[in-house]
Amino acid sequence: MALSRGLRCCARVFSWIPVLIITSVVLWSYYAYVFELCVFTISNTLEKVAYLLVFHVCFVMFSWTYWKAIFTPPATPCKKFQLSYSDKDRYEREERPDAQKQILVDIAKSLPIFTRATSGAIRFCDRCQVLKPDRSHHCSVCETCVLKMDHHCPWVNNCVGFSNYKFFLLFLSYSMVYCVFISASVFRFFINFWVGDLPNGPAKFHVLFLMFVALMFLVSLMFLLGYHCWLVVQNRSTLEAFSAPVFTTGPDRNGFNVGIRRNLQQVFGDNKRLWFLPICTRYPPVGLYFNPVPRDTLLYPPEGLYSNPVPGEIPSCRFTLQPCSWRDALL
Ligand SMILES: [Zn+2]
Ligand SMILES: [Zn+2]
Repeated sequence: MALSRGLRCCARVFSWIPVLIITSVVLWSYYAYVFELCVFTISNTLEKVAYLLVFHVCFVMFSWTYWKAIFTPPATPCKKFQLSYSDKDRYEREERPDAQKQILVDIAKSLPIFTRATSGAIRFCDRCQVLKPDRSHHCSVCETCVLKMDHHCPWVNNCVGFSNYKFFLLFLSYSMVYCVFISASVFRFFINFWVGDLPNGPAKFHVLFLMFVALMFLVSLMFLLGYHCWLVVQNRSTLEAFSAPVFTTGPDRNGFNVGIRRNLQQVFGDNKRLWFLPICTRYPPVGLYFNPVPRDTLLYPPEGLYSNPVPGEIPSCRFTLQPCSWRDALL
């Protein structure tokens, strides 16, 4: 017991190593660019000020988005998806798997759940004791179910999912802008290095490595960001790209695709002016903010939630926009 707690504690400490590596590289790049390049190498004041100004804008945006991606807690299913005490008791006392499945089906009738396990059963997490809302998955690193889970990212030491997917995408984008700006502005000095025009001193090596490191990250980021842009446009998570979500009608890779504009809005929000800022602007998450209301109140699910609601299931998705509070959602 004490050993497993110790191991878990060690794993938690080691999980910060990738974040420390990124932070160290970025802090070195700050020193190398601001001091070694701008202060010690560039002699033209106007050029120096212009470079420093643009560099700091990129640096602030990168740091802000990285911070948000790391420290935004993953959104977990709200209390509605947890088994009540009596349901849990009933579920645990039942020994026949089919009867257990039926208990979950009965509970799920009052919840906005449209996806199923591959076997056709209601998706249930034994460890969290919750009926899994659509698109949520259990993360074994975070030890919780995460809404619209994309993947667990070691570079941000956090689960990328509903609560921080926008921040993660902006982090990738601003990292790329940061690398592009550094490589573009350092290129001239990089050439000077090879023709021997740079004054001797440590600055020339910092300039050389700035160029190499920026290009190395730029190439990797291009692939990663390109892949995520494709996922956003299709309204798929990384997990869904590997294994298509299963609906009552069967697996459907495009089950959540509601058109490019709405797909983008589901991640970035409907106010385009806020798309590029790492602040929360998204649509309410499916199954988190939608509370069931009496069946005769509404006829259709909120527009844009599903591209293919199953006709037989439309009555169960009559919800109104009454948000659970974030506190409820995260408990
Ligand atoms: Zn779970
Ligand atoms: Zn995780």
